Amino acid sequence: MPDQRDEQLAYCALENLEVVREFEDAGYSGKFLERPDLDELRDLVATGGADLVVVSKRDRLARGLYAGYLKNEFKRHGVELMALDSRTEDTPYGALLENTLDNFSEFERFMIADRMRRGKRSKAKQGKLVACPQPDYGFRYDEARDGYEVDELRMALIRRIFRMVGVEGMTLNAVARRLEAEGIPAPRGGGTWNRPILRKFVLSDVYLRHSYEEVTKIVTSEVAATLDHSAHYGISWYGKQRHTHSREVRVKDGKKTYPRIKKSVDAPREEWIGVPVPDPGIPQEWVLAARKIIEKNEKVSNCGRRFWELTGGILRCAACGGAMATNFIKPRQIGYYRCGKRYRLGKHACSQGKNFRAEETETTGWEFVSGILKNPQRLRRGLDEMLDRERASASQGPGEEEEVWLKKLSEHEVQEERLLDLYLEGKLEVDRYGARVSQLKQARKTIEEELGRIGDRASHIEHLEQDRDALLNHYSRIATDRLDKLEPEERNRVYKMMNLTVLAHANDNLEVKWILGGDPCRDNATLLPDSCRTRGT
Ligand SMILES: [Zn+2]
Repeated sequence: MPDQRDEQLAYCALENLEVVREFEDAGYSGKFLERPDLDELRDLVATGGADLVVVSKRDRLARGLYAGYLKNEFKRHGVELMALDSRTEDTPYGALLENTLDNFSEFERFMIADRMRRGKRSKAKQGKLVACPQPDYGFRYDEARDGYEVDELRMALIRRIFRMVGVEGMTLNAVARRLEAEGIPAPRGGGTWNRPILRKFVLSDVYLRHSYEEVTKIVTSEVAATLDHSAHYGISWYGKQRHTHSREVRVKDGKKTYPRIKKSVDAPREEWIGVPVPDPGIPQEWVLAARKIIEKNEKVSNCGRRFWELTGGILRCAACGGAMATNFIKPRQIGYYRCGKRYRLGKHACSQGKNFRAEETETTGWEFVSGILKNPQRLRRGLDEMLDRERASASQGPGEEEEVWLKKLSEHEVQEERLLDLYLEGKLEVDRYGARVSQLKQARKTIEEELGRIGDRASHIEHLEQDRDALLNHYSRIATDRLDKLEPEERNRVYKMMNLTVLAHANDNLEVKWILGGDPCRDNATLLPDSCRTRGT
């Protein structure tokens, strides 16, 4: 931010500090440590390139506990962190953080994960592979498991696939059928070859031959120095996606659970790290031709493309719980939803082989949802139930916690009084009295801050209440006829806001749950597509 930058530069000028480097990380949330500029800043600190790090806002560097974590990390390298917005509260806040951090096993796990992530990135930067359970088809790991060797037998199959697509112009479906007919096992076992697997092969740069000159543009000069000038290499990209793990609190049957949530987002291309792998031996023009052909195919199928409003995890297979995948039959111009797991992994993966007509399924789902939205009372009821659950989960744990801290606080008060008594009775010297009192004061401060933190949670509930009111206001103002004209994209957005789940049952029934934040609420219904009846339970 320009004004933040001005503030920082002004501070540096005032304190007579030399600016070594500026970091920005525009567009990245302080919620995550996985940020390119932050990574470089941490490297700079680790290599002794700076004495002081100046930020305008502590939470812009990193939110919450992470800020304390970074501060400690910098401290270990003898570097001070100066947050211009919290210069005064820095000491007690920091002390409090250090006290409470130990209690967070969650945090411990985060630290390990973060260290591993940084370790992996630096490994990839050194031109080494970061091993995952399965190597790319046609390669095997070397003994150190940080490089590839070509698996000639399997690579011959990859070579053949590129010839079929790139030279002979076969479609991916035709290739899949051919391989299945020949009984060639698929990469993950089983006999089912499908388009996504083949597509991944065609687009993967491990199979694209790069000359030494091309590779030098991708890797660092240190890595390039280890390569053979006359050889060719494939490229394995590290860090194409950024993963974040978190825990969510859910209340089920009055008990709290903490499911682990993994979210993956595509990382921008400039963050990828290329690792050279041995020459796959497939002519470059075959690979490029194959890519061109599947690109063209995709454009063709785009013509018949529709927006699938129940995608994004909304429509799920009732048999296996997995998300339903889509299938568009071009000649008949009809779209279907089908179990994605069964389609990807084969018949053994899920028992439900039923196809659901997209149009009917979507209409039924929307009639149910717009029914709720057109009835503000019903919407309010669902939102209120969600809030009740949230309140219950907040009052369970924190209530006890608050009690513990309040008890500690009163114990402290008793101790303080006892000390004073001893002092007044002349049984305690003034120095020892003073030392004990300041100890107690410090501890008391920690307790009071803890109590404050618990209070913050209550304000979270207040926010939720405001959200509910906003949602209610928004949708009760949308006129009924406008609701009926919402575009599929907009409907999809509404579904996601409501946390809608539709389970597709083999008997054609759709089971609908709309959840806002927690468990299914009373509005769950079973829909029969033929009659579009809704039945409250
Ligand atoms: Zn299924």
